[in-house]
Amino acid sequence: MKIDFIAAELRLAMREPGCPICRLRDEAEYGYLYFLLYENVNDSSTRQQIVASLDFCSQHTWQMGRIETRKFGQAMGNSIIYESLTAIVRDHLARIHDRVQAERRSRWRRGWERWWERLLHRSRRLPRLDEIRPQATCRVCQIGEQTGQAHLRWLLEGLAQPQSDFRNWYLHSDRLCFPHLRRALELAGPETEAGMEFLLCDALGYLTALRADPDEYVGKQAWDRRVEAMTEAEKVSWLKALRFFGGNERSQDGHRPA
Ligand SMILES: [Zn+2]
Ligand SMILES: [Zn+2]
Repeated sequence: MKIDFIAAELRLAMREPGCPICRLRDEAEYGYLYFLLYENVNDSSTRQQIVASLDFCSQHTWQMGRIETRKFGQAMGNSIIYESLTAIVRDHLARIHDRVQAERRSRWRRGWERWWERLLHRSRRLPRLDEIRPQATCRVCQIGEQTGQAHLRWLLEGLAQPQSDFRNWYLHSDRLCFPHLRRALELAGPETEAGMEFLLCDALGYLTALRADPDEYVGKQAWDRRVEAMTEAEKVSWLKALRFFGGNERSQDGHRPA
């Protein structure tokens, strides 16, 4: 059953280091790109989605390149996708270039207009750039966002039930990062209010503890405390803070998220 599957995925993610939702999002994005390269490079709806956003975002563009060279040892899929996309973008730019030239020729004929605009300090109207405005956001980011939302809703439902195992699993996890905690609080409704309260209460305790170690780290940099040894927790405290605010560090090397 789909629900059991999502609960099992969440449980596994909460056993791993870092924010469980960042992890599930990264896995979904990696999986989408992997299967795109494996068998969907010539799929028309996949290609339409890439054209609608005029490529993926920068991160997913590079990730697709890295995955193919790492996993498949060549760049055939990337070459096919970008051969087509390059031609499309070149056509768009050629049309814009034609409009710029046509506008300039027309303005040359209407020299009085230039004089009038200069007199009124009006800026010149430049041709529209509709063709090169993406009609959609990066498809891979969309997949990641949808996956993250589905799991967050399910997490909230699980945490809303005091007797369920979710609370115990969550308390033994590295917790949600701040962006996903914020998203969870936004997604909560009347039926998951208890889950929202649980997350808030837990976050307050977590942040109180998270603040103590960096405080000691800074204190022990002072001249009069320089001989005091740092604990392991204090040494990595800044990393925990970065992970809370920035979410899990994202893989750029084309490997499956660790
Ligand atoms: Zn996260
Ligand atoms: Zn993206």
